Amino acid sequence: MTLFLLAACGFTHAEERPLPTTTAFVLPQTTPVPTLDRVFHPVATPPPTASPPPSTCPEAQSRTRHTVSAEIDYLNRLVAVRQTVDYPNRAGVGLSQMVLNVKSNAAPGIFTLDGLRVNGAEAAAQLNGQRLSIELKPPLKPGCSLTIELNFGLRLMPIDPAGRNAYRGYLGYSPRQMNLGHWLATVATRAGGEWITREDNSIGEQDVLDEADWDVTLAVKNAPEGLRVAAPGVMQDNQPGHWRLTLERAREFSLSLSDAFQVSGQRTAGGVKVELYAFEDARIQTQMGVLDSAAFALDTAVKSLEMYADLFGAYPYERLVVVQGDFPDGMEFSGIVFVGGEYFLRFNGPTSYLMIITAHEISHQWWYNKVANDQALDPWLDEALATYCEYIFIEEFYPALKDWWWDFRVNRLSPEGFVDSTVYEFPSRRAYINAVYLRGTRMLHDLRADLGTDAFFDWLRRYVEVGSGRVMTPERFWALLTPEQLAATQATRDRYLRQPQIVVIAPEDF
Ligand SMILES: [Zn+2]
Repeated sequence: MTLFLLAACGFTHAEERPLPTTTAFVLPQTTPVPTLDRVFHPVATPPPTASPPPSTCPEAQSRTRHTVSAEIDYLNRLVAVRQTVDYPNRAGVGLSQMVLNVKSNAAPGIFTLDGLRVNGAEAAAQLNGQRLSIELKPPLKPGCSLTIELNFGLRLMPIDPAGRNAYRGYLGYSPRQMNLGHWLATVATRAGGEWITREDNSIGEQDVLDEADWDVTLAVKNAPEGLRVAAPGVMQDNQPGHWRLTLERAREFSLSLSDAFQVSGQRTAGGVKVELYAFEDARIQTQMGVLDSAAFALDTAVKSLEMYADLFGAYPYERLVVVQGDFPDGMEFSGIVFVGGEYFLRFNGPTSYLMIITAHEISHQWWYNKVANDQALDPWLDEALATYCEYIFIEEFYPALKDWWWDFRVNRLSPEGFVDSTVYEFPSRRAYINAVYLRGTRMLHDLRADLGTDAFFDWLRRYVEVGSGRVMTPERFWALLTPEQLAATQATRDRYLRQPQIVVIAPEDF
């Protein structure tokens, strides 16, 4: 997520420093109720109606496949979901347990688990916060796959623009918009033989996401006329109140719904269709006439997408969706980004956050979606790169504004702190952004000076090539430099990093 700087009010409430905790709260229960920090053992489910399907081993697919059927009660802000997860065991070892991360259960009162089956049979499971641990009996052999079926409900919360959780408005609703970001379960990434769930935190993001394929069917009832869905992927079916979308090689599948969207679009030179979903208030009445912030955001989106594709490699989808969000700041998802509505309303030309944040969020299609990282422990790996992309966008399209950007975005805030901090180390969102985003972008600029512009961008391009589809680490990022380049950049690392010494990775460990 990007920063929200416009007014001091964004930072007047000091946020308590949440501590990462590994403590699980175990509460026995037998009936489906709101499930934050509760345990199902076993989850109540109706009796099986069919015998388990035959083993699909050894023809397991290469990636996890999610098939989702969601019934959305738009008026009442309720969603009933059946999510089928076909998971291939590529871990190289048998698995007696697997973990799904259910981000929508990170806050209370939203998520209710109604049923869970593994290969058609009931299975024991524990839900602690967002971590859903499922026992596998028998264990899942290497190279084999299994099918998990989840049935759950979501009761969306209203977005309180001034509230502590306003930044989580990507999962919530305003009077004119319903946002479904991080609403579905994902299979936890495995690292070091463990399933990874990072503790939720009010500052930053905490997701570590593998690529998966998504096939999502939406049936919407109790909706006003003209409801539109802003969603990524290929539209397979589109009838009133009924949509089916598929999206391959994506970290999650997220969308937004509104009957007030005004949609505009433009193709990039590379043929990607960029669609902008904005509201009427994005057209600002001034004494000079109408200032169309939506048109400006679309232009920024098209230009930045083309530029990043040239620099870092092709954008992987046919469409990119940009949504004016009724919540502060911005948020990246696979094939869709939100840009905070305030930035549209306060637009007054290029020297505004609308351009900065649009260019930032779109760069996350590379630094998040194409190449993932541990957003909790290594947040600089996507956020510093995304912030530096703001600068290179301005360098290319608004070179007269380069000094303005450094002053407005970075220098006037006198940023402090180690770039390689985790999201758990900061007393406030401001302090986090200053260290990770702003000093991070200074570090990247200094690295570019150390290496030379051509070698610097060659490095980033190779990072995308090597990291595409994976969850990358700082060690792998640095290991793409030659020994000479590592030596040339040592002083810069010493200035910005808590751990400036690089652990060299052997090629076979890449
Ligand atoms: Zn960001």
